[in-house]
Amino acid sequence: MIEGVAEMLREGKKYLIGNWKMFKDEIQAHAHFHLLAQFLAEKKIFLDVAIAAPSVFLSDLVRKTQNLVTLLAQNVHWEREGPFTGEISVPMLRSLGVSGSLVGHSERRLSFGENNVTAGKRMGALLRGGLKAVLCVGESLEERDQGRWSRVLETQVCQAFEASGVKNAFEILGSFAQSPLLFVAYEPVWAIGSGHAASPAQAQEAHSFLRNIFSFYFGRDVGEYVKILYGGSVKASNIKDFLSCPDIDGALVGGASLNVQEFFQMCERAASLVKG
Ligand code: PEP
Repeated sequence: MIEGVAEMLREGKKYLIGNWKMFKDEIQAHAHFHLLAQFLAEKKIFLDVAIAAPSVFLSDLVRKTQNLVTLLAQNVHWEREGPFTGEISVPMLRSLGVSGSLVGHSERRLSFGENNVTAGKRMGALLRGGLKAVLCVGESLEERDQGRWSRVLETQVCQAFEASGVKNAFEILGSFAQSPLLFVAYEPVWAIGSGHAASPAQAQEAHSFLRNIFSFYFGRDVGEYVKILYGGSVKASNIKDFLSCPDIDGALVGGASLNVQEFFQMCERAASLVKG
C-alpha cells in the first residue's frame, strides 16, 4: 500500500453524484447549483456531492462550486485534441477546473454506440490526466434473468481496463493519492429511470462481486479502496437502504437529482450514515 493512502481512504466517506443528463436550461441549472452549494455550506454535512452537468454549463458552474460541490462532465473523449466534432477532451475539462467525468453510461451505450472499449479509453484518459473517472457498468434485464449478470460485469470491467491502458494496481492506487479518482457505478440497465430499483441485497451482491474482481485482477488494495456507487431509481425514500450496505460507497442518481428538495433530502439521509 502506498504510504498515507490507506489512512486517507479509510474514512468511510459516502459519495453522491447527481446526473442531470440532458435536462435543465441555463437559468434552472444555475439556480439549482447555487442552492445546492448554499445548502451544503449551511448544513456542513460530511458527504462528497458531485453533479454531472451538461457540458454547455460546465464553464459557468465551475465558478460556483465553492469547493463544496464536485463538478463532472457526462462524457469525454480519449484524445487530447483533434478533428472530433462535438466532443470535449480531458485537457479542456482540466483547463476549466472540472474534476472528471462519467464514462460508459448505459444511455451512451444504448443510444450512441458506446462500448467497453470506448468507455475504457475515456477512463484511461481521465486517470492519466489526474481527473476522476466514474465507469458505469451494469447488466440488462435479459442478462439478469439468464443468470449472466456477474459474467457481464466482469467482462465490462476487464475490457474497459484493458482498453484504458491503466496497467497495474500502483497506477490506480497512485491516482488515489489526493482523493479517489476511480469510481465504478453499478447501474443495472433495468433499474435506470424505471422506478424499479434493484433490491439492496441484489446491489450489495453485485458490489461485493465487483470489489472481488478488482482484488483479483488489480490486487487486494485496489479492491478494498475502489469506490463503488449504486445507480438505478435511487430516491430519498430508499437511499439509506443502499448506502447502509457494506460494499456500497455511494449513489449515482439520475431522475431524483433533478428535484432540488428531493436531492437535499438524499444528501441529508446519506450524510446521516457517516460519522462527521
Ligand atoms: C442514471 O442516470 O445514472 C440513473 C441512475 O438514473 P435514475 O436515478 O433516474 O434511475
